[in-house]
Amino acid sequence: MRPLPRSLNPLPDETLTGFVLRLAHRLGTTPGEIADRTGLPSRLPLGVLHHLNDEHLTGFARSTQLMPAEVSGMLLAPLGDRYGPLNPVLTPRRTPARMIYDNPWVLTRSTRYCPQCLTGDRSAIQDLHGGAWRRLWRLPVTFLCVQHQRLLESQCPRCATPAQFAPAANAIARLSDDTLHPWQCRFTARQTSQRSETACAADLTWVDPASTAPDVATMTVLLQVQRQLIDLLVASGPETAMSAGAPVPVPHYFADLRATVAMIFRSWPVAREHASTPCLAAAIDAEYASRVLQAERLLNTLGKKKTSKPYTVPPQGCLATGAALDTAAKLLDTHDPGDARRRLAPLVQRLREADLALSTWLRRPTWISVSLRQAVMDLPTGRRAAS
Ligand SMILES: [Zn+2]
Ligand SMILES: [Zn+2]
Repeated sequence: MRPLPRSLNPLPDETLTGFVLRLAHRLGTTPGEIADRTGLPSRLPLGVLHHLNDEHLTGFARSTQLMPAEVSGMLLAPLGDRYGPLNPVLTPRRTPARMIYDNPWVLTRSTRYCPQCLTGDRSAIQDLHGGAWRRLWRLPVTFLCVQHQRLLESQCPRCATPAQFAPAANAIARLSDDTLHPWQCRFTARQTSQRSETACAADLTWVDPASTAPDVATMTVLLQVQRQLIDLLVASGPETAMSAGAPVPVPHYFADLRATVAMIFRSWPVAREHASTPCLAAAIDAEYASRVLQAERLLNTLGKKKTSKPYTVPPQGCLATGAALDTAAKLLDTHDPGDARRRLAPLVQRLREADLALSTWLRRPTWISVSLRQAVMDLPTGRRAAS
């Protein structure tokens, strides 16, 4: 790989695809051309977001004049050191490449984003090519921009396609298009009557003046939850977090949140009393109703029904995500194992009645921490009455 005539410094927490978009814009070429000239797998398969093999990583580093560590810092795989849903121990997969498939707790085909962050920090280079498409926006546990104190967006304001939606198997849409700015929507609106293949091209830094934020009390709660979660995700964060009566390694904590969110939805409204504000309770009410509808629709399909699945995924909307994570975090946040057990017992009981298979699946040892497992474990019949 020959070095490119010019390169770019990666921005903090930037994704590889975001970097490729900015570099293509800087060099006046297409993302596909950047992929070819830096030795990335051709057509940029989805997996490049998560992981590069040694050959691809060193080739990309050499041609972009970056250190290999800077390149791996743009991938999602290293986040698995702290984020259980990307951690091979807590999210077992047959091969590392399978990690991002059928894994709703990482966004691979789209991303959330903050319009204000995308406009950049007013430095010359960001004025030209925009701010970072951030890695943390790819994790559903990120729902709010702490810097700009606003909920993240998840779709294009014009065509309503999920942001950076990847059609087919490519990590970037319109690989051969050199006309779009990194912050423009790349969705191809196919109008069959006109055979039009032009991009939507909406400016994703646009902020709808009519959009309203949740009430102040709700935003205060959400900001606090988001700050806590981001503090745990950054590499310099603490090693452990309190979960269901004991400190657990941080990746286990995120695995516990994933399982607890599923328990909350499948047993709703049992945990409603733990919602911090009426707005957050209402957000989970609405999300729950849509999940019930999805599950009912699955009942009428042929083959394996998978009716549990709608309850186990994180919400798409950022308000509902924040609401579910706030409730889950509150349920887990106790130093006392007995207290954890008492808080979670009503959810577990309802879950067992509603969906025994899911209740077993969510509580399996490879899925949750030891302390959460102890808190939600079935007691022998005699002791259950006593507890
Ligand atoms: Zn922001
Ligand atoms: Zn669009």
